[in-house]
Amino acid sequence: MPELTGDLDTILEWADEIRELGVRANADNPEDAELSRKFGAEGIGLCRTEHMFLGDRKQIIQKFILDENEDVRAECVKQLGELQTGDFLGMFRAMDGLPVIVRLLDPPLHEFLESPRALDVAIARMEEKGASADEIAAKRNLMAQIDGWAEANPMLGLRGCRLSILFPQLPEMQVRAIATAAARLKKEGLNPQPEIMIPLVAFESEIETLREKAEGFVAAVAAEEGVELDIKIGTMIELPRAAVIADKIAKHADFFSFGTNDLTQTTLGFSRDDAEAKFLPAYMEQHLLKRNPFATLDDGVAELVKMGCEKGRSTNPALKLGVCGEHGGDPESIMKFAKIGPDYVSCSPYRVPVARLAAAQAALAK
Ligand code: PEP
Ligand code: MG
Repeated sequence: MPELTGDLDTILEWADEIRELGVRANADNPEDAELSRKFGAEGIGLCRTEHMFLGDRKQIIQKFILDENEDVRAECVKQLGELQTGDFLGMFRAMDGLPVIVRLLDPPLHEFLESPRALDVAIARMEEKGASADEIAAKRNLMAQIDGWAEANPMLGLRGCRLSILFPQLPEMQVRAIATAAARLKKEGLNPQPEIMIPLVAFESEIETLREKAEGFVAAVAAEEGVELDIKIGTMIELPRAAVIADKIAKHADFFSFGTNDLTQTTLGFSRDDAEAKFLPAYMEQHLLKRNPFATLDDGVAELVKMGCEKGRSTNPALKLGVCGEHGGDPESIMKFAKIGPDYVSCSPYRVPVARLAAAQAALAK
């Protein structure tokens, strides 16, 4: 694992004395969490839990979503809960004493389902190999079920808090796992500091409903485990509507984290999945855009962040404000954030030292 030593370490220590912005890291496994801690991160600003569901675990979620038998679905949720408790034990242990913002599942639903194209290929192979008619019919049935969930624009579809609202067993499983991991570590004498983040909120009612439920699950786990748990609950601000009604959303949030990746996508109407690889370079060559807005914060998006900070603080002065989009590790964007309100930025572990320096430069420029 790399260490920061010598002159760089000294310069970073000077930077820490000067900077006003906090610096956290985006990490979703204990190794990255430890690495970011070594690089000076003051907490985890974003733990993307969907990254914990790749590989075999995808099959469990797929079964939960598609199976019609409630007992089978309940068993899937139980298995996922046990796996997640293990995940969070690792994360909170690695970051003992520091805040860890765990984001509830956010991915577009199709990421949990087998790809229809791969299923098509699998069916063709089964036919070649002479699989039975029943086996082939079962695969075709699976394909039809998955097809039923297909969306033309998954990034604008069933993801974020919408998933939590339509599949309430998932946030319940995750919140219980977060609270259980925290309770067990407390009993070991550690000091876990988890926080729960609700993604892609657009309406006040979304955070209001999900917060109330989450508080209930945390209280239930605290009673079961016999420990006191005080877990903050907040939201991503990553849709323009959320920034515009931030005063209303803030009444139900302990913190905001600006998801500037999605906020850029939805404010500019540029697809995150396509723009950088397709028309954006040509557009920039025409000098219509000076910077890639997914790399360096666009001024229009910055206005929305500023509005979100101001409106949020107007109804909840104690609101903690962070940024966890890629821009949180970009020096030019950090200069902008330092002027418009966030308390901290959060970026990938390797960008933490750069962010510490950029934050100091921003404070000096002030
Ligand atoms: C964001 O949208 O800026 C964000 C941090 O979330 P994600 O990149 O996971 O959508
Ligand atoms: Mg996002």
